[in-house]
Amino acid sequence: QVEVNATEEPKKSEKEYKKAMDTDYDIESFKYVIIGGGTAAYYAVDKILENDKEATILIISKERDVPYQRPPLTKNLWQTKDDNVVNTLSFSDWSGKQQNLLYEPESVYGSEILQFVKTRSVIDLHIDEKLVLLNDGKLIRYDKCLIATGGEPRNFKFTSTDKEKITTYRTVEDFKNLYNFIKDGNKHVTILGGGFLGSELTCSLGLNFGEKGIKLAQVFPENGVYANLFPEYLSNYATEEISKIGVDVKTKRLVKDITDNNGRLTVLLDDGSSFDTDHVVVAAGIIPNTDVVKSTTLEIDQVNGGYVVNPELQARTDLFVAGDVASYYDFSLGVRRRVEHHDHARATGELAGNNMSTKTTPNPYTYQPFFWSDLTPGVGFEAVGNTSAKLKTFSVWEKKEGENEEQKYNKGNIYYLNDKNQVVGVLCYGNYGKMDTARRLILKKRVIQDLNELQHAIDFDEH
Ligand code: FAD
Repeated sequence: QVEVNATEEPKKSEKEYKKAMDTDYDIESFKYVIIGGGTAAYYAVDKILENDKEATILIISKERDVPYQRPPLTKNLWQTKDDNVVNTLSFSDWSGKQQNLLYEPESVYGSEILQFVKTRSVIDLHIDEKLVLLNDGKLIRYDKCLIATGGEPRNFKFTSTDKEKITTYRTVEDFKNLYNFIKDGNKHVTILGGGFLGSELTCSLGLNFGEKGIKLAQVFPENGVYANLFPEYLSNYATEEISKIGVDVKTKRLVKDITDNNGRLTVLLDDGSSFDTDHVVVAAGIIPNTDVVKSTTLEIDQVNGGYVVNPELQARTDLFVAGDVASYYDFSLGVRRRVEHHDHARATGELAGNNMSTKTTPNPYTYQPFFWSDLTPGVGFEAVGNTSAKLKTFSVWEKKEGENEEQKYNKGNIYYLNDKNQVVGVLCYGNYGKMDTARRLILKKRVIQDLNELQHAIDFDEH
């Protein structure tokens, strides 16, 4: 099946909607329509099924695959050492347990209660009439609707327009294509971006395919990886660790252009230098998918992007938004935010699903989601709250003993403070299972008089 690009479809006018409804046009109707088939969608459906025994649910997704988790796409799936992973999509999680990328097998999505429409986009929403319009012209009626459309990877225009050699990376399809491309080794791959996606993918390829002759370059404009998150010393350290696994890390460099070169690509940098590569992955962030509603206006957050929702995750009556595409009010930080992390997609999906199907008063979103990343065996963390590198930070490192003495940074807690000296974010480096303590610290909003008070705020014990 061919995926159809939503933006190429003509907008259905008000008149066409009316015509469709005035004739005996048979409009299929579902109690719950979920736009997007990612993590937020999955958890919403799970909650609806739990609450409403009479639910009829339709998930509409642009992708070919039923809902799946994205974090293993840059991590565990690359560690399997089994080329059949592109078919099985199974991997070991951090505890060694076998898992599958898909939340549920495809067979779960074929009943009267729960249906899944793949490779279709919603191109408009008629909020007053409670109708969604698909890119194949079909109209569907809903009682309650969830927008869980996530974001689209940002891409750039280069002289080379080779879409097979210059790709983005977000879907299971992207994983399969990249895996099949590099599995036999002896290729040069370039990753553009020093954030989560770019750094994790670089490390996974370097650690698991370096021996097979996969050569890597990582290019980004900042001084080091995770420059928007880590204090400068830690960003420099993590960058050195990536270099140590054989990656040619080109910091402080912008890509000016990419051109075709006899079956390969040439990457031109802003300092006038250039190098040849076989494949480029652009990992330059996402743009929230807010092109779903065209014929009515929904408020879009002008600062953070995304659809603005109230505390119950509603954009309008009976219209909910969850996951990467939601701009919400963060109660513990006192600011409006949009968060692009798995745990947030899970929690907002679950809450939206609950609020769509509950018979009692809907609940507000007061949860503080966490996020994590693993790069090399010595670079990994969990974090919560506002962890912008622009904030003042205070780091507490565990004294190293025994076998880890060689490693520069082993376990540490980094506290992020606002201008009133309140802790607004915590990053626990190599120190796992401390997120609840960190959340409580943020919620307290205590003004820290002396930073040394934070020395023992979070311990280094393993629970
Ligand atoms: P998505 O999962 O993006 O799902 C949205 C779905 O909606 C997509 O399938 C999209 O195609 C579909 N869609 C969009 N528009 C339409 C439309 N008009 N009609 C129909 N369907 C539409 N977070 C972490 O916290 N930790 C990690 O380690 C981590 N690793 C990641 C690794 C990768 C490779 C990626 C890409 C992301 C990672 N994230 C991680 C981020 C996390 O996966 C996202 O925050 C999460 O997937 C967001 O869920 P969502 O449901 O909001 O959106």
